[in-house]
Amino acid sequence: MTAPQPPFAPAPEAPFGPVLRANALTKIYGSAPVETHALKGVDLQIAAGESIAIMGHSGSGKTTLLHLLAGVLAPTSGTVSWRGRDLASMSDADRTKLRRSEFGFVFQSGQLLPELPALENAALPLLLAGIDRSMSMQLAREQLGRLGLAGLEQRRPGELSGGQAQRVAIARALVSDPEVIFADEPTGALDQATGWDVMRALKESAYICGAALVVVTHNPEVAHWCARTITMTDGRISNVAVQQPTSLEAQLVPPPPPAIFGGVGGAAR
Ligand code: ADP
Ligand code: MG
Repeated sequence: MTAPQPPFAPAPEAPFGPVLRANALTKIYGSAPVETHALKGVDLQIAAGESIAIMGHSGSGKTTLLHLLAGVLAPTSGTVSWRGRDLASMSDADRTKLRRSEFGFVFQSGQLLPELPALENAALPLLLAGIDRSMSMQLAREQLGRLGLAGLEQRRPGELSGGQAQRVAIARALVSDPEVIFADEPTGALDQATGWDVMRALKESAYICGAALVVVTHNPEVAHWCARTITMTDGRISNVAVQQPTSLEAQLVPPPPPAIFGGVGGAAR
């Protein structure tokens, strides 16, 4: 006979609970009297495969938040946990390993290594993780192909357009099949049309590989592709907007204007 469960037994951790959880994060740069309070108490949970756009004025704390979530910077107070494990409790080596295997990064301008061809740039995270060279190159080649870069594998970054170089950076972020992709204004240095294409490629590939995407953007249309949009104001989350519907189709193409939900007649106004 099994003992009855006490009514106050804690609920088991939800199987699809957040992969990343930030609690009461603060970040102060420098020390008094010249300290900057970049984050003033941020709570955020990121579920597996979820897409989040972070918007807000320059200096509002977007990059700082991204760096804390990714374990690149340590918070002044508060915690970031990865699948329930506090990043601060990990050794530097374990945090580096976590970043290499579970996180992918795309920066404003790709930060590709100029002397390496696209293929090796894209393969870099695998090579750094000690994956066999020919396997690394094969996976990188496949990823470049998925991003429309077949045939350009041997070009160096200087021989690629801005949009192509950013696609190589996306391939590099995705090649290790990460759980979360962090992108900090990834289209900020591109013209509007190219930026749109690159952002769509990023959104699609994150979706296809099942990775969560956390993207800092100034483009409200890009935010429409993400399930949640968080607005930062002066170190705090000042607004959260949920984008509906969040089906694959809705995530891969801009959603219809709101009037269409009111029926065909509503759209004609
Ligand atoms: P955003 O990405 O939204 O522009 P940041 O997170 O880069 O904002 O910066 C938030 C605030 O922290 C700003 O006031 C910025 O000047 C300051 N800041 C960012 N990085 C540093 C740093 N390394 N040292 C001192 N202050 C910093
Ligand atoms: Mg920034």
